[in-house]
Amino acid sequence: MKILNIKNKCRICGSIFNPDKRHPYQKVCFREKCRRLRNLNLERKWRKRNPSYFKGEWRREYLSEKLKKWRRENPTYFKTYLSKHPELKKKHNQYMRMYRSLKKRD
Ligand SMILES: [Zn+2]
Repeated sequence: MKILNIKNKCRICGSIFNPDKRHPYQKVCFREKCRRLRNLNLERKWRKRNPSYFKGEWRREYLSEKLKKWRRENPTYFKTYLSKHPELKKKHNQYMRMYRSLKKRD
């Protein structure tokens, strides 16, 4: 087995740590505080890049029930729509990945 002997410096607390083998280029150590901060920063960055997803959160709440009902009645429309709009599909996939990873950690 190949032993990785990489040492990274945490971008948040500045301590030296051995990164995960699967993520040798990670920039943040394993401390709870640093990981949380990192996730927060990622989320903020992501929101900046995808502002439309978070515009009018209350409105989305309000619409989501309607949307769910509508999707139940039109199960293929959303998929078809996304496949016709690759940019949107990419954004949607990013969003879903982000959403899942945030949910897993909490
Ligand atoms: Zn740290």
